[in-house]
Amino acid sequence: MKYDTIMVRFGELYTKGKNRKDFIWTLGKNIKNALSNYPNITLDIRYDHIYVNLNGEDENQILDILKDVSGIYALSLVIKTNDDIENLKNVTLDAIKNEEGKTFKVDTKRSNKKYPLHSEEITRIIAPNILRNTSLKVDVHHPDIRLNIEIRDEGAYIFTRSVKGAGGYPLGTSGKVMHMLSGGIDSPVAAYLLMKRGIKLEMIHFAAPPYTNIGVIEKLKDLLTKLNRFQDSIRLTIIPFTKIQEEIYKNCPESYAITIMRRMMYRFSEALARQRNCKAISNGESAGQVASQTLESMQVINEVTNFPVLRPLVAMDKIDIIQISKKIDTYEISIRPFEDCCTIFDPKNPKTRPDLNKCKQLEETFDYKSMISEALSNSETLIISKDKVDDII
Ligand code: ATP
Ligand code: MG
Repeated sequence: MKYDTIMVRFGELYTKGKNRKDFIWTLGKNIKNALSNYPNITLDIRYDHIYVNLNGEDENQILDILKDVSGIYALSLVIKTNDDIENLKNVTLDAIKNEEGKTFKVDTKRSNKKYPLHSEEITRIIAPNILRNTSLKVDVHHPDIRLNIEIRDEGAYIFTRSVKGAGGYPLGTSGKVMHMLSGGIDSPVAAYLLMKRGIKLEMIHFAAPPYTNIGVIEKLKDLLTKLNRFQDSIRLTIIPFTKIQEEIYKNCPESYAITIMRRMMYRFSEALARQRNCKAISNGESAGQVASQTLESMQVINEVTNFPVLRPLVAMDKIDIIQISKKIDTYEISIRPFEDCCTIFDPKNPKTRPDLNKCKQLEETFDYKSMISEALSNSETLIISKDKVDDII
């Protein structure tokens, strides 16, 4: 038995009322992009489903790619066939013999209103045929096998198996956000969770050469290549952060260095977010994880921006974050040893309850504003794409 089509179900999109058309269109475009290496594949984009016609491509390879495309609730492997009832009896029998279980239920839907039989009538022909020709029993409440038949204008669709999709919304339908990417474990996981919701990300990274080594950029590229499964092209801006960091350590007590440094990072992130038309900033902070992530620290750091700061990991345990990073294949890259601009200047006793006025006073002692605009104009941008072409702009 050969599957020829994958049926894509939208799930949560159903709640989207009049925006639905845009959502479906964007999802269709994202599916096409995700499958761009399979030129034989064609799509039928309909109001209630998208059909991916395999045209000979391997169904498992395609399913594996589609399960990471956000906005898909479920995927079903489908046989498309002639809707003649005798043909349906044969094809459904073949399909159900392929499955394991003791009980079954037939579910029929008919959107082709010209078809001579009603849904109920179809079920009442198909189910007895299965009972006669197999040892299966009917169970309408908890069947082991659900045999679905859909009669459409263009023919009949038969499917027994569905797998869960990534859920969320199609990428690009929820706007764009500037994400702070460090190269650690947390920030790629935070990026994945946002992408899964349909939020498109651009990345900002603070590099402090020669304190941080050039290998960090390779590491970021490798991480982003993994995230390309969820967003096929990702823009990364690298901010030269050395000068500003040296100024901080020259002018501020060590215990305040991290707080002020993070206030600077937020200022940069907001400035770049504005330039790039992003609606919010996001990062991998998790409440209580380190000194700069106590609520008191977060409040003082957050004070520099009015932009919403999205922190998808805020209530997650490190163990659960690690589990996700293993699932999305970023863990092994994240744990490669590297020097981050935070770890280099790691103070012995960072403030867990920094004082806002003190921060403001300290920041007045050096001209950070012009350093920020200088660093922004000296920043470098890379585009990391699915096919690994890096453009330096
Ligand atoms: P991660 O949190 O990704 O494991 P980390 O633990 O080194 O890395 P933290 O000190 O926990 O980072 O910082 C919290 C968040 O701040 C990170 O998740 C990331 O979003 C952001 N961040 C930290 N360092 C950088 C950097 N050099 N460039 C960009 N963002 C950074
Ligand atoms: Mg962290």
